[in-house]
Amino acid sequence: MTQLDQHCRPIGVLRLSLTALCNLACPYCLPDSKEPLGLINLEQRLKIVKAAVELGVHSLRLTGGEPLLNPDLEELITAINPLRNQGLSDIALTSNGFLLNGERAHRLRKAGLNRISLSLDGTTADSVARMAGIKHGELHLAQVLAAIGHARSAGFDPAKGDLKLNAVIEKGKNDNQLLPLAELARNEGIELRLIEYMDVGNRNGWQPEAVLTSAEMIAVINKQWALEPLKRRSATTAKRWQYTDRKSYLATIASISEPFCGDCNRLRVTANGIAYTCLFASQNSGLDLRDYLQANSCSGDLKEAIGKLWGNRSDRYSEQREQQLKSGSRKAPAEMALLGG
Ligand code: SAM
Ligand code: SF4
Repeated sequence: MTQLDQHCRPIGVLRLSLTALCNLACPYCLPDSKEPLGLINLEQRLKIVKAAVELGVHSLRLTGGEPLLNPDLEELITAINPLRNQGLSDIALTSNGFLLNGERAHRLRKAGLNRISLSLDGTTADSVARMAGIKHGELHLAQVLAAIGHARSAGFDPAKGDLKLNAVIEKGKNDNQLLPLAELARNEGIELRLIEYMDVGNRNGWQPEAVLTSAEMIAVINKQWALEPLKRRSATTAKRWQYTDRKSYLATIASISEPFCGDCNRLRVTANGIAYTCLFASQNSGLDLRDYLQANSCSGDLKEAIGKLWGNRSDRYSEQREQQLKSGSRKAPAEMALLGG
């Protein structure tokens, strides 16, 4: 039976971070320059995924940091793929795309990956450099544009939702990229997902004034290309629209202006095996799964521990953000690249 939490939310998605490291330094994320202590290995990750699937997880997202930096990625996916017979229906990857060449895209597809989300926050070298925290954006932009083609050639079909583009939009920083990004995605027939700038971690200096809301983003794009809203699928992060000319879809992740804690089904596990139940969780609130991952540990114990963590879960930070920030009661949160975005 699927494990429920204190608000009767069933567990459904596992976001597994494969590394806290990244080859970029996006100022809104600011990853660490070294891995956390006690990284877990491929077999241990497999054990976690198996236990999560037994508890009701149907969708796995591999993330980081930058997951393409992990040399075991294809082997891990190959090992996880048979779990499709036990209820896992989706194996997805979120990547900044820089390292996604043609060969890698084919290998990932062959291993069993069925969905890729690529992150790109602008269509000019300047905007890309600014948002990625790098000096020159030309090469990065070219690589990510090429990665879109490589993913498509490997069989990730955007028309089926297998290939999407993520963009974080920050007021005054890259909001002038909204229309160019929408145009790029429309021309590629790819769903663009516009992410509101979030107060994850301790380092990005987040201020509410820097958030461009979903409603503001949609208003800008709707003026240029008419959009019609679609019904929200339950337990998803996105609000979706379709262009009335049917060219493609658009989505927003409105965690700040329209929180979706009510049916959140996502469990997160860091690269060193700490499980968290919320993207905005405090650093010390995770459960160290390594205690249950020793060679001689019983797999039932791991499943029971994750089940208990989920069963006790009552967090709904995005709905409480304003109140927690006002009262100063928010505890130091874990960083995004560690938790896995
Ligand atoms: N490195 C990969 C990437 O960038 O796609 C995967 C990890 S990254 C943490 C996952 C997603 O989180 C990316 O789409 C990124 O843009 C988003 N993200 C990171 N920090 C964010 C923030 N402060 N607000 C909103 N989205 C953020
Ligand atoms: Fe790296 Fe992704 Fe964080 Fe950017 S958002 S610094 S690409 S982990």
